[in-house]
Amino acid sequence: MAKKTILDVQLKSKKVIMRVDFNVPMQNGEISDENRIVAALDSIKYILNQGGKLILLSHLGRVKTEEDKQNNSLAPVAKRLSQHLNLEVNFVPFTRGKEVEAAIESLEDGQVVMLENTRFEDVEGKKESNNDEALGKYWASLADIFVNDAFGTAHRAHASNVGISTYIDTSVAGFLLEREIKFIGDTIANPERPLVAVLGGAKVSDKINVIKKLLEVADYVIITGAMAYTFYLAQGYDVGLSKVEKDKVDLALELLELAQGKIILGTDVVTAKDFDPESERNVRSKSAIPSDEMGMDVGPETLKTYFKYIEQAKTIIWNGPLGVFEFPRFAEGTKGFAKKLVDLKDSVTTIIGGGDSAAAVIQFGYEKDFAHISTGGGASLEYLEGKVLPGIACVDDK
Ligand code: ADP
Ligand code: MG
Repeated sequence: MAKKTILDVQLKSKKVIMRVDFNVPMQNGEISDENRIVAALDSIKYILNQGGKLILLSHLGRVKTEEDKQNNSLAPVAKRLSQHLNLEVNFVPFTRGKEVEAAIESLEDGQVVMLENTRFEDVEGKKESNNDEALGKYWASLADIFVNDAFGTAHRAHASNVGISTYIDTSVAGFLLEREIKFIGDTIANPERPLVAVLGGAKVSDKINVIKKLLEVADYVIITGAMAYTFYLAQGYDVGLSKVEKDKVDLALELLELAQGKIILGTDVVTAKDFDPESERNVRSKSAIPSDEMGMDVGPETLKTYFKYIEQAKTIIWNGPLGVFEFPRFAEGTKGFAKKLVDLKDSVTTIIGGGDSAAAVIQFGYEKDFAHISTGGGASLEYLEGKVLPGIACVDDK
């Protein structure tokens, strides 16, 4: 069912409390990557331009002790946001209380306050993470409308997303959340076919449920990355020192049977003797992996096979790198694949989910060339599994 968004409500002179994902990486008190701030600007500007009185909430890092608070204040984020908006962002270094309420009372139309890290509420009794009722009620009492724009936490029911929405009349999605629903949710529900899913990355065990779900909805499922070696083992190949999960071999066999030809595997691999960026690179047939070598990337023949499938596709869901892309010598498969998707961009809608896959395409400079790069790691995985995410379910239906 379609969800209400900020476009569906009157924002003028309304107090609007919005949960965003400002969980940016910090190094020595400095923001080392401000992508998440930039990504939230559309929703923020829209609400302010409509004359809303905006209250921003976000978490940052993990806060378990009083000491953790020192390194996880949102103050630097508020400052950076203020520069982006060219507007004062009134930062209140508390998550509740008199100062918070006074700052909100003094808001005029088109002005914004930002509260301190919601996880500061976790120090005593994990109130934020355990969706404490009183906390959700309190935050809800501060505003007229709740906006959820934090997809990265949508797979968790916290006080700052699900809690607030429970105790406020109106809950809508921001533009970022709306995009994730449109690209991931709607695609899983009703894809334009052929749909080819490409699942790679580190472990079968991380992605069992995604594989199962995508076997249901996709026309083909390419299994690649380190995950593929557990399947090769299941097929009876010797995979040398490659990363495998021996306890998942039976499951891999089961999935191969269940798939009835839908699962596409490779035929050759790039190996190395050591898990090392300088280690020598060898192209091997998958039937001839030496016992003292490990698979680090897909081989050229395998890549061609993948291309054959994706060239026919109308929709591609890609989750998980094809090889150890962090080592340039073993990044060719992942990079070549990403490049091919870019070449196909006029005929195929490509959705990328997964933290490392997103990092890979950004590192290659292809960020702008994809229909959708999901902003959530764990959340996009669970959404791809077809799960109902509490942070989406809590938004009002249209
Ligand atoms: P995502 O975050 O996109 O869901 P994962 O976390 O599942 O992806 O996996 C990413 C990791 O998988 C990367 O760090 C990459 O180096 C690793 N990887 C991919 N192929 C291999 C391989 N053949 N051997 C070891 N590690 C691999
Ligand atoms: Mg990952």
